[in-house]
Amino acid sequence: MYPRPFHYHRAGSLEEAAALLAQLGDEAKLLAGGQSLIPLMKLRLASPAHLVDLNFVAGLSYVREDGGDLRFGALARHADIEASSAAQGVPLLHDCAAGIADVQVRNRGTLGGSLAEADPSGDWAVVLLTLPTQVVCVSPAGERAVPLGEFITDAYTTVLSASELVREVVVQAPPARSGGAFLALKRSPPVYATASAAVQVTLAEDDTCGEVGIALGAVGLTSIKATDAEKELRGQQLTPEAIARAVDAARTMADPQTDMRGSADYKRHVIGVLVARALEVAVRRARGETVEGGHLYA
Ligand SMILES: Cc1cc2nc3c(=O)[nH]c(=O)nc-3n(C[C@H](O)[C@H](O)[C@H](O)COP(=O)(O)OP(=O)(O)OC[C@H]3O[C@@H](n4cnc5c(N)ncnc54)[C@H](O)[C@@H]3O)c2cc1C
Repeated sequence: MYPRPFHYHRAGSLEEAAALLAQLGDEAKLLAGGQSLIPLMKLRLASPAHLVDLNFVAGLSYVREDGGDLRFGALARHADIEASSAAQGVPLLHDCAAGIADVQVRNRGTLGGSLAEADPSGDWAVVLLTLPTQVVCVSPAGERAVPLGEFITDAYTTVLSASELVREVVVQAPPARSGGAFLALKRSPPVYATASAAVQVTLAEDDTCGEVGIALGAVGLTSIKATDAEKELRGQQLTPEAIARAVDAARTMADPQTDMRGSADYKRHVIGVLVARALEVAVRRARGETVEGGHLYA
């Protein structure tokens, strides 16, 4: 199906994009990679009267390391992140970027668009919830940095106002003796996950678990930070018993719905398996091993 007619606006700068959004109001949508918005428009589930295209704003697709931070411009494509040195240094970023859909989607889809879309099955929010992450937002009123945990408030809903857009995503790089892994169970590459789990861990000098972040995807209205599971591991020896308690806590925090991808019970089982496996890969990577992560197909 073709989308309904719309007016096309090519923004030359972020300021112009924000001003256009303020002027055009609820009838306007930003266009980034178009990998969520255009399919919705073609299905006529979204029919914005105006599209404000960000793709011609210069200097918005960077991935760079800046002191202890990793900085991603809003238009950083999944493929840019996959190929970046940041993703080599923080393997769960590579797990995520390299596994989203297919090469066409990865070449167009952006990090800013993914977080702004706030799809409960989207991969980036799950991964970035395990690391200290700020979403830098800009509007005609100015700029603010919002912690990712507060940025997404509900399914497909964020704190962004109608005239506000994502400019940059800033992730605090993990210290030495850290490792992470992202595992997503998908029925095939071009579909969203049935369930997914991300784990980022830092080992203490005595090999106990220091800092740990665990997040769950596609098992709730938003990505879930599994804080109860983290508590079972932080400061603890990574014994089979402690890991089993963390897995149980993650399963309890999951709130899956039965749908075409499986029953709620099945997804709750899968999330436990994914957390356990992601934790194992994360710890091995923290110890310096090279281990495969990423997407599993079933
Ligand atoms: C076949 C297929 C399979 C896919 N599978 C997966 C998957 O498994 N996992 C996954 O994570 N994703 C998946 N995606 C989605 C893909 O990752 C998209 O790239 C992403 O969801 C949206 O990014 P985009 O840049 O394309 O945004 P767009 O589609 O351009 O925009 C999405 C929404 O965000 C808004 N927006 C865009 N940029 C900004 C900004 N800077 N500030 C504020 N608002 C903004 C838009 O107005 C729109 O409402 C899939 C897509 C397709 C087509």
